[in-house]
Amino acid sequence: MADPPTLHSRRTLNLHFDIPISKTREFWDSLKEGRFVTTKCMKCGSVCFPPQADCPKCMSGDVSWVDLGRDAALVTFTRVAVTPASFAEEGSYTIAIGELSEGVKVLAWLVGANVSRVKPGMKLRVEPRAGPDGKPYYVFVPA
Ligand SMILES: [Zn+2]
Repeated sequence: MADPPTLHSRRTLNLHFDIPISKTREFWDSLKEGRFVTTKCMKCGSVCFPPQADCPKCMSGDVSWVDLGRDAALVTFTRVAVTPASFAEEGSYTIAIGELSEGVKVLAWLVGANVSRVKPGMKLRVEPRAGPDGKPYYVFVPA
């Protein structure tokens, strides 16, 4: 049976995302200092991650920053073997959801773990890192 006809594009598509961070800059500055913070609504008490300039539950703009610490418990994870084009250079990787203090759930790559030993409930730590361009990011590592 012949393959159905296809049309392949040979163009390289470079995507650049400019995400405004003026209202969440505290998060990035804190991450560079090794602290993992997010916003808490002073009106209804909701703690959100990622940080929000305005509370998504009650729409109040009265939010303050709370330190979540860096300890987490693994909720769930998945191993990505077929990577999207934007991560093609990375090879396979593991994405995890960890629960931090205040019940905040965070999605991040899990690195430095033997995937055959990764189990929900295991202790993780958020580890701040900097990319080659100096921009901060974070991963989970086994605690
Ligand atoms: Zn609120």
